Amino acid sequence: MAALEKRSGADWQELDKDHHLHPFTDHKALHEKKSRIITRAEGVYIFDADGNKILDGMSGLWCVNVGYGRDELVDAATAQMRELPYYNNFFQCAHPPSIELASMLQDVSQPQFNRVFFTGSGSESNDTIVRMVRRYWDLLDQPQRHTIISRKNAYHGSTVAAASLGGMKPMHEQSGLPIPGIVHIDQPYWFGSDQSLSPDEFGLLMARQLEEKIQELGADKVAAFIAEPIQGAGGVIVPPDTYWPQVQRICDEYGILLISDEVITGFGRLGEWFGADYFGTKPDLMPFAKGVTSGYLPLGGVLVSDRVGDVLIDKGGEFFHGYTYSGHPAGCAVAMENLRILQREKLIERVKNDIGPYLQNGWHKLAEHPLVGETRMVGLMGALELVKSRQPLERFDEKQGVGTICRDLLVDNGLVMRAVGDTIVVAPPFVLTHEEADELIEKAWLCLDLTQEAING
Ligand SMILES: *Cc1c(COP(=O)(O)O)cnc(C)c1O
Repeated sequence: MAALEKRSGADWQELDKDHHLHPFTDHKALHEKKSRIITRAEGVYIFDADGNKILDGMSGLWCVNVGYGRDELVDAATAQMRELPYYNNFFQCAHPPSIELASMLQDVSQPQFNRVFFTGSGSESNDTIVRMVRRYWDLLDQPQRHTIISRKNAYHGSTVAAASLGGMKPMHEQSGLPIPGIVHIDQPYWFGSDQSLSPDEFGLLMARQLEEKIQELGADKVAAFIAEPIQGAGGVIVPPDTYWPQVQRICDEYGILLISDEVITGFGRLGEWFGADYFGTKPDLMPFAKGVTSGYLPLGGVLVSDRVGDVLIDKGGEFFHGYTYSGHPAGCAVAMENLRILQREKLIERVKNDIGPYLQNGWHKLAEHPLVGETRMVGLMGALELVKSRQPLERFDEKQGVGTICRDLLVDNGLVMRAVGDTIVVAPPFVLTHEEADELIEKAWLCLDLTQEAING
């Protein structure tokens, strides 16, 4: 470690260029620039090798919900690694952390969830979904119920099956995806529509696409519908109020499984334990990851309702699926302590009743900026739309890259938010103070001004 720490930021940048291929990156473009080297973090701030202090408005990648610098989580991992650093849950074995965490997850989720299948990430959780959903219908002697309906622009991970469930066109185009048996309907993105309908009408229309797709495929061919309660990586797409009740009605009516991808929305992001709780849906399966450990160690899983779990158990036969790190002991120990922090410090209530409404209030003031066409935020998950003109509504030419210009200005001014096209998204840690929220809004406003100057000048 000592030798490592003697390197300068510039040394790391060189080494990084020489040896490290980054995820979701244009490797040529990055090669011509330098990466930002993050060396440490505390609370809601990250620090780079040049000594810049940056407010992390994205909680890492939507995961560091309890904030950085949590000794409790470090201690939980250390203690578990001393006691039992690794053992698997294969071959009829189990260890206390995976058992205890499974039981805790049952306590915080809706009553139909009594079981969990552990994985190491969100992508692995969604690969598990594809396998488990098909296994379920096979066991019920309906193997023709094979097709899973998902949505365009959804993000469900980057492994082959998870990327297929996802609706990211560039990902599909690069790898010959989706795999067979996965189809996509439109997302309930009202601001991105022609806005000729009211949001409520539009929400109904988008939900009815699910029904039309089921009828087109034949209800006896459809296994499940998967969706994020609020699409995250797709640009924090908050569905109109009419959307989820209608989707639930359709899933119930046709008997298809409802899968709520809770990788971002799980564990408090919307001010409830899960996004399904916020929207009042009753899912059959809930993939999770990210916030379960606040990102301190990799861990994911699928919460399995009795509808599915009982069939797996009653019908029997080996389910040929699992990961070396399914329920890693240290990951589970950290997750348990993370859940205890959420409970002890009432952080989910804080998102719902305190910092959530406080940040939302500031965020919606950004809508007064001439560059902003819409602001939206639920709990601590928000977005704003950069537009060329508000009246009449005109969006920028995508090639202009206005979102990226704004994002880069934000980072240069000490605030991480993410650009999804011309949509700027935000998801800060739950421990954000009012002062830090004010700082976030002030910096956002400043950077909207700077973005305006940059594109005019
Ligand atoms: C991040 C994400 C995933 C994938 O999780 P990984 O841990 O990166 O594999 C899946 N679903 C949603 C909704 C996500 O945001």
